[in-house]
Amino acid sequence: MTVTTTGCYSDGKSWDSETSASAELKATVHAEKSVYLTILAAAGKGTKGKAKKDLKNTVFFFSQNAFPCSDCKDYFIEQSRSRNFIFLCTDDQGNYAKDWGLTAPPVPQAIFLRGGNTFFPGKVTSTVTTKAPAPGAGVNSRWVSTTSTVTTMNAINPASCTRPAGFPDCPPFPT
Ligand SMILES: [Zn+2]
Repeated sequence: MTVTTTGCYSDGKSWDSETSASAELKATVHAEKSVYLTILAAAGKGTKGKAKKDLKNTVFFFSQNAFPCSDCKDYFIEQSRSRNFIFLCTDDQGNYAKDWGLTAPPVPQAIFLRGGNTFFPGKVTSTVTTKAPAPGAGVNSRWVSTTSTVTTMNAINPASCTRPAGFPDCPPFPT
């Protein structure tokens, strides 16, 4: 089974830098991460790790035939502490919806990530993720997730999908 992701980003007016990638299950670099890294370059992340511009109000959009796997979920939730993401999951290939606390959800489903939180539009939020320092480590050490809860969500219509409070403006989902 192959995960195929199409992604782009917006600063509020239009979607830009549409990019696609596919990756087999067990691939070293997963499709969504591959697309994200490609888009980052276009969105202003310098190649030497220096941001060319503030990306806090940038919305990154991904459409894919699977929910992000648990590794990608953790990665993007962490990234959402300073950026904004929308995942439009058009299918549940690989059964990763369970990693989001969902059993056989209707698709498509949209997932918004912002501030380290997960929002499922059409229904209430939510993932509550509590972060705490790894045991015995200093305050600057790697943070680990200690709590994660997700409520059931309804199917959504991408065209009428409303964004969570505080989420930056972005155009309607690209098709
Ligand atoms: Zn993944």
